[in-house]
Amino acid sequence: MTDKSDIDELVKDLEEALRIDAAVPDDDDAAVPGDARDVPRPASSASSSSSSSPSSPPDGALSAAAVLSIYAPALPAGTTSLFASTGSALDSIADMIRAGAAKNIIVMAGAGISTSAGIPDFRSAGTGLYANLKKYNLPYPEAIFTIDYFRRQPKPFYVLAKELYPGQFAPTPSHFFVKLLAERGLLRRHYTQNIDCLERVAGVDPELIVEAHGSFHEAHCIRAGCREPAPRDWVKEQIFGDRIPRCTKCRALVKPDITFFGEGLPARFFDSIKDDFAACDLLVVMGTSLQVQPFASLVAEVGAAVPRLLINRERVGDSGAAGFDFDGMRGSVHRDALVLGDCDEACRLLAERLGWADDLLALQAAFAARGDAKAP
Ligand SMILES: [Zn+2]
Repeated sequence: MTDKSDIDELVKDLEEALRIDAAVPDDDDAAVPGDARDVPRPASSASSSSSSSPSSPPDGALSAAAVLSIYAPALPAGTTSLFASTGSALDSIADMIRAGAAKNIIVMAGAGISTSAGIPDFRSAGTGLYANLKKYNLPYPEAIFTIDYFRRQPKPFYVLAKELYPGQFAPTPSHFFVKLLAERGLLRRHYTQNIDCLERVAGVDPELIVEAHGSFHEAHCIRAGCREPAPRDWVKEQIFGDRIPRCTKCRALVKPDITFFGEGLPARFFDSIKDDFAACDLLVVMGTSLQVQPFASLVAEVGAAVPRLLINRERVGDSGAAGFDFDGMRGSVHRDALVLGDCDEACRLLAERLGWADDLLALQAAFAARGDAKAP
C-alpha cells in the first residue's frame, strides 16, 4: 500500500463496499455526456433568478438550471413517448403526479441522496475515516463488511460504525421530498440502499421504507442459535465508548442489522418487492450507480409501460435489455427519463413543478428548528 494507485484503488473499493459511490464531487466532469442537452426552462421560473450567483440563489429560488441537465432524446420514428413533446420529461412527470396518474410511486435510493448530508465518502485519503481504518490492515477493503472477517476481527467495523452512526447527520432535501410524497399518500414504498436511517430521521413512516441493506436501527447477537436483540441505546453507548458490544445472554458479538457480505438481505426486502412493483405507477431512482445486486435489478420489476425516472450525476443502468432505455430504442413506447445532476436540486425542481416548493422548505425549516431531531 505504498503506491498512490493502490491507495486510490482501496478507496474506490471501500466506497463500493459502503455503497456511497455515487455523486462524488470529482464525477462532475462526467456528469453531462455530450449527447445530453439542456431543456430551456420556462420563463416563469427563469425570470425569478434575480441573483447573479447560481450557488447562492435567493430564498426559495432554484439554482437547478445551472446544475441539472434533463435529457431530451431524439426518438426514433414511430416511437410513442409517455412524456409530452413540450416542456421537459420532469414537467411531464409532475403533470402525471398532479393528475393522479402516479399515486403508487416507488423511490429507489442510493448514496447520492445522502452525500449532501456529509456522510463520509472516503475521498479524503489520509484523513478521517480512511486514516482510522488503515491501521487495521484489512486484508481487502470489503472485509470490513464481511461476516466471516467480522467474527474474527470486529474492531474495524465498530470504528467505522462510530463514524457513520445515525444522529450525526441531518436529512437532505431529497429525503424531505420523499417525506412529501409520503405525506400526500403517493409513496408506495421507498427502497434505500443506505444504512444511514436518514429517511426515518426525515419522518417517513418506517412502514413505507425498505432498508434493502439493513440499517443501524436494530441490532442482534450474531450467533444463529441466539439472535437476541440488543437495545439500540445500549449498542450506541458501547460503540461510542469504543467497546465491542457482546450479547448479554451468550457473549457472542452483537452487530447492527446491516447486511454484510455473506448474509442474506432482510426478509422485508423480498416480502415487499412483488406486490410493490406490481402496483407501481411511477419509479423514481435517485443517487445510485445501480451496481449492487439484487437491488439494481428492481428497475426491471415495474410494468412495461410504467414511467421510470433516473436522477443521478451519471447516466447508469442503461446496459442490458432489462435496463433503462433513455433513447427509446427498444420497443415502441419511450418511458425512461434521465435527469443528470444533483439529487437535491432535482427534488427541489420537481417540488417546484408540483407546487410543493414551499412545503419542502417548510419541512427543512421545521427539522432545523427542532434541533434535536437527528436521533433515528
Ligand atoms: Zn447471543
